[in-house]
Amino acid sequence: MKNTGLSERIKQKAHELGFTLAGITTAQPPAHQEVYRRWLQAGRHGEMGYLATPSAIERRGDPRSILPECKSILVLGIPYSNPASAKKPGDGRAYGRMAAYAWGEDYHEVLKERLQGIVAFIEETVGHRVPNRWYTDSGPLLERELAQRAGLGWIGKNSMLINPERGSYFLLAEILLGLELPVDAPMASDHCGSCTRCIKACPTQCILDDRTLDATRCISYLTIELKGSIDEELRPLMQDWVYGCDICQVVCPWNGRFAQAEGDAAFAAREATAWIDLDTEMRIDVQRFNQKFKKTPVQRARRRGYLRNLTVAAGNHGLAPSVPALAGALLEESEPLARGHAAWALGRIGGRDAQAALDEAARAEKDERVRGEIRAAREAS
Ligand code: SF4
Ligand code: SF4
Repeated sequence: MKNTGLSERIKQKAHELGFTLAGITTAQPPAHQEVYRRWLQAGRHGEMGYLATPSAIERRGDPRSILPECKSILVLGIPYSNPASAKKPGDGRAYGRMAAYAWGEDYHEVLKERLQGIVAFIEETVGHRVPNRWYTDSGPLLERELAQRAGLGWIGKNSMLINPERGSYFLLAEILLGLELPVDAPMASDHCGSCTRCIKACPTQCILDDRTLDATRCISYLTIELKGSIDEELRPLMQDWVYGCDICQVVCPWNGRFAQAEGDAAFAAREATAWIDLDTEMRIDVQRFNQKFKKTPVQRARRRGYLRNLTVAAGNHGLAPSVPALAGALLEESEPLARGHAAWALGRIGGRDAQAALDEAARAEKDERVRGEIRAAREAS
């Protein structure tokens, strides 16, 4: 078959660059486009308006609308750390959890160079320029379907791409190529079977029966994409997650059995990013936030969103030692979003000191939304 040797060499190069999974599929439009449209129509994307623009829909509907010369798509998977590899400190303090993909460097940065390296290798090998476009997660592609078509795994009930030999702790990337390559056999089988562990374990019950999520309820969306206030009904369900959520992957038997202990070194936890000491972290200033999370995915939540998430996690822990840090956030923090959620957390923890902080804030607070949060918290505490 045409270019068989070349495709093997490309995959070999991808493996050398850390992409444990590599497969090739055609430039055919994805079959799940209709599911995607229905998902958007139902408003499941929440505030992620960039997913619903006419051009985003068109581009997701046909890879050739992104690269007209596209003849094949190289789909790649690179492993990140297994969430189970970071043990929770056992000192009784309130800790928040971060999704494992976000422990290390920003994958957009890490993968960019490597994808460029693969393109350079292809062009050097064929001896001419090859039209190409590459994406990591954020591109206008239905990447899990492309990965399934390239034989990398199946789309599980938790909507993640699951590889039968390695689980789902992978970041995906795609290179659209104006080059005809032999394609891999799609993963035709679905190995979820009668399992429903992820559905039962999801704290907000946002896993839908068509292998999509109601993103507006998903903790990943709430802690990262949502820029404003979190619904009061959802806050108690968010447990101790401060950035993303790994629950529906951790409970998946395919990760229990096959996920590697460690992922690519670039995604290994930097200073204390797997478990966050909430009471200390709630005092993080702008400079420290930027220094700590420079070139990591956490920048996406910005400091205000991150602080909001810290206060919700502290409220869910419900520990009295968190009251001084929450009171500090309520009375001294400049971000109204953080002050409002700190009030909620204090109302949840309750007790004399929490009440005193809420009373003081009720006298001083000017922001109407925060005042509403304080009123509700005083009634609750
Ligand atoms: Fe549910 Fe968390 Fe999975 Fe979102 S990431 S679907 S909240 S378990
Ligand atoms: Fe499929 Fe079970 Fe894994 Fe959910 S937990 S994705 S149902 S195998």
